[in-house]
Amino acid sequence: MSSLQRPGKIVCVGRNYRAHAQELGNDVPTEPLLFLKPPSSIIASDDAIILPTMSRQVEYEGEIGVVIGTHLTRASESAAQVGIRGIVALNDVTARDLQRSDGQWTRAKGFDTFCPIGTEVRPPADLGTIEVTTRVNGSVRQHATARDMVFAIPTLLAYISRIMTLEPGDVVATGTPAGVGRLQGGDVVEVEVDRSIVRNSVIAAG
Ligand code: ZN
Repeated sequence: MSSLQRPGKIVCVGRNYRAHAQELGNDVPTEPLLFLKPPSSIIASDDAIILPTMSRQVEYEGEIGVVIGTHLTRASESAAQVGIRGIVALNDVTARDLQRSDGQWTRAKGFDTFCPIGTEVRPPADLGTIEVTTRVNGSVRQHATARDMVFAIPTLLAYISRIMTLEPGDVVATGTPAGVGRLQGGDVVEVEVDRSIVRNSVIAAG
């Protein structure tokens, strides 16, 4: 995806991998848990993630991002699968302390630079084979495949489309696997999803 092409919305899924729900002390949801990130949070590979002064605990969340190619309203899972245009590496950067204290996630997930997105690549025929890997300063912190998800990608898209129409260019962030952790100034964080890579340095605000 061109970094200048902003999606109309970024729909995110929380707690979509069992081991990650457990590592934060949460139950696995019985329905997809949805939230939004503002399109203004998007940055491209090689842009810097800026640590806001409001937070003392900013964490990476490497995720498989799905780019929508068609209008999906109350779509079946098969129609949703056909409506996928591409996949991207996505980092759902989160101020974990604010996520806990605010009770809802708009601030914690919405800071400028909190949504690094890599180049768009074609989805494989079998979506379950998509892999996501997160590295911090070169060492692997997260690794999973789409098969490890609680709700598979077509199920997520069909579910979201019963609430809000998914439009061409919209991005769905499908949840992060276990292994989330802190980012500090000077770190370099990289999320790889198949052949899409997004790599960002981390700097303190001001
Ligand atoms: Zn996330």
